[in-house]
Amino acid sequence: MEKRKIADCRKFPSEKNCSVCISGSEAEVVPLAVHHAVKDHGHEDTPELHADIKKMLADE
Ligand SMILES: [Zn+2]
Repeated sequence: MEKRKIADCRKFPSEKNCSVCISGSEAEVVPLAVHHAVKDHGHEDTPELHADIKKMLADE
């Protein structure tokens, strides 16, 4: 089974003290985290954002 990854929004520089934490396989977490970053943090959906999110994923 694929290892779960965690995208912890607290590790992301943010102006709104967000404590959202998304976990699942990398293929599941990245689109959810991108959606969250775009919708709730006003980021733009760019390849750089995808790369940054992949970099901040931690092992569960
Ligand atoms: Zn957040």
